[in-house]
Amino acid sequence: MTDCIFCKIVAGTIPSIKIHEDDLVVSFMDIHPLRRGHVLTIPKEHQQQLHLLPPETRAHLVNTVARIAEAVYRSSLKPDAVHYAVNDGPAAEQTVPHVHMHLLPRYKGDRMSFMMRLLRKPFDLVTGPVAGDVLMRDADAIRAELARVS
Ligand SMILES: [Zn+2]
Repeated sequence: MTDCIFCKIVAGTIPSIKIHEDDLVVSFMDIHPLRRGHVLTIPKEHQQQLHLLPPETRAHLVNTVARIAEAVYRSSLKPDAVHYAVNDGPAAEQTVPHVHMHLLPRYKGDRMSFMMRLLRKPFDLVTGPVAGDVLMRDADAIRAELARVS
């Protein structure tokens, strides 16, 4: 879709900090992260909802996100847990109408700061993206570990 921001990332007409790319999916850093190490993974095929994707693409998407989770666990971010999240339609807070799975590092005792961050999220468009150097550093750390995940 020509007006879809994620299709533009797939096409490379909008820049992104990529973690992984293959024939079916692309993973990149969220520029408005809820947490450091917040990674989005999208299918290259434009579909709005997970059940509309071809089964092999859907399976590959989930497998890719799980591999990236392993890399995040091994990285210097060292989360205690992660969220895998798909907002599958506008009524479920989907803001870009192209399937995307969030991978979010979580830490013991971070519930309050996480909730506060969720509340601030709607104002991100006013404050702009977070510092690129932090995103780059975390992306490098995740990519380095991903190369070691089978
Ligand atoms: Zn799209």
